[in-house]
Amino acid sequence: MIYWDHAATTPPFDEVVDTMSEVMKKHYANPSALHRSGEAAAKLLRRAREVCAASLDVLPSELVFTSGATEGNNMAIKGSAMQYSSRGRHIITTGTEHPSVYECCKQLESLGWEVTYLPVDAAGVIDLDVLKEAVRKDTVLVSIMHVNNESGAIQPLADIGRIVKEVNSRTLFHVDGVQGFGKLPVTISEWQADLYSLSAHKFNGPRGMGVLYVKQGVQLFPLISGGSQENGLRAGTENVAGAVAMSKAMRLSQERQPELYARMMELRELLFQGIRKIPGLVLNSNELDAPHIIHFSYPGLRPEVMVHALEEMGMLISTKSACSSKLSEPSRVLLAMGKSMEVASSGIRISLGKEHQLGDAARFVEVLANACSKLRPIIEREGN
Ligand code: PLP
Repeated sequence: MIYWDHAATTPPFDEVVDTMSEVMKKHYANPSALHRSGEAAAKLLRRAREVCAASLDVLPSELVFTSGATEGNNMAIKGSAMQYSSRGRHIITTGTEHPSVYECCKQLESLGWEVTYLPVDAAGVIDLDVLKEAVRKDTVLVSIMHVNNESGAIQPLADIGRIVKEVNSRTLFHVDGVQGFGKLPVTISEWQADLYSLSAHKFNGPRGMGVLYVKQGVQLFPLISGGSQENGLRAGTENVAGAVAMSKAMRLSQERQPELYARMMELRELLFQGIRKIPGLVLNSNELDAPHIIHFSYPGLRPEVMVHALEEMGMLISTKSACSSKLSEPSRVLLAMGKSMEVASSGIRISLGKEHQLGDAARFVEVLANACSKLRPIIEREGN
């Protein structure tokens, strides 16, 4: 079996599994406890925060440990909306965000907030002039992702940050960084981002662990009340083993990012060449996208049929994103990119990871070509 679903989740580094189990066994004490075991756990937590901060080039005090990016995105969006509602009740985002951003915005709309959903072009990228026009005096937050989880489209974050701050220096800029970290360079200060969320399991770290960067001086209304952990922003006993394991994965991913990027670019080129030659397939990703996400459609075929056909042939792939792959609706992301209903309803995603070698591309293309020729009669039958 070859696993081609790294945008859904990644296998943890061996070091991450070892660290997790070691810390769980040896340092199970509550880091808030006053005894020496508690202090040892608190020290590990402090160290983990320092390692994560160094990987992101930010201050340790600017990081909040979370359970993942769904929580981080909720904390960033609802937390800033509630904190700064006296500045206005307007938010800007795009129509192609992950549900953990999109649904937060929808929920705020139902509470009376105004949300502008910026359109994207055929490549999935926003228009900077439209953004400039959209930012207002009462815009509290702009939330735009780094890399799209379905199409791989990369948003021009440095330009976005510059424009947002030029038009309204008080507007906060949040970046959902989940699909970019470890794959592309991350430059939070250059982007002028105030908030940046990550999920550890997307960069070979543990599941159920994430981190939210909150720029010094930015206040968030806490969504979870209770103890004073995480600067009062996230009450609840900390996941020490998860934090230490995540810090390890962050450091390793950050160190290996340039090498991984170079290998993925080569792999993607081979995959693009192969996919383009298969009759009936429509490639939705392009050379400007992040190299680890490749999206294509087989119009006329329900994508789950392709998932199961490829699974039988030893390849694990996905339809749309993991969070919405059980829904049979067309992809909101592809529709926003102007794709037809047919293309948006037959999307298939493969996503690359550190385990892939160049030879895997040829194997995948061969299997895919076989699957397509076997499935073609189904499309023709159903089309008639
Ligand atoms: N944002 C993006 C772009 C994602 O791809 C995902 C997960 O697929 C998330 C947020 C949510 O991450 P998690 O499910 O780990 O909370």
